[in-house]
Amino acid sequence: MNTNTDPNNADRNPDTIALPTFAMLASQLEQAGFVAGVPAWLSKYAESVDRFCLRRMKCPNRACRHKGMEYLAYAGTPRRYVVLAVCPRCQSAEAF
Ligand SMILES: [Zn+2]
Repeated sequence: MNTNTDPNNADRNPDTIALPTFAMLASQLEQAGFVAGVPAWLSKYAESVDRFCLRRMKCPNRACRHKGMEYLAYAGTPRRYVVLAVCPRCQSAEAF
């Protein structure tokens, strides 16, 4: 869940990266065969943990930094699950 612990992301500087928007990520997921919605096999516990994390997460857009991202789940086959964290203020988004 926390991509900051990934050593490959250690040098990642949000100021120099064009942040994807919700619309961009959603269309990428839909082209990859994902559908919007929480997968039926996902436990309620896992869903609630993800929702909790996103509520505490700050927007990756440094010009925004809104606290509290919206939770949008996408389900793929077989048993694939992607969460989009979407900023309600600026529409920046991150996929997990
Ligand atoms: Zn934002």
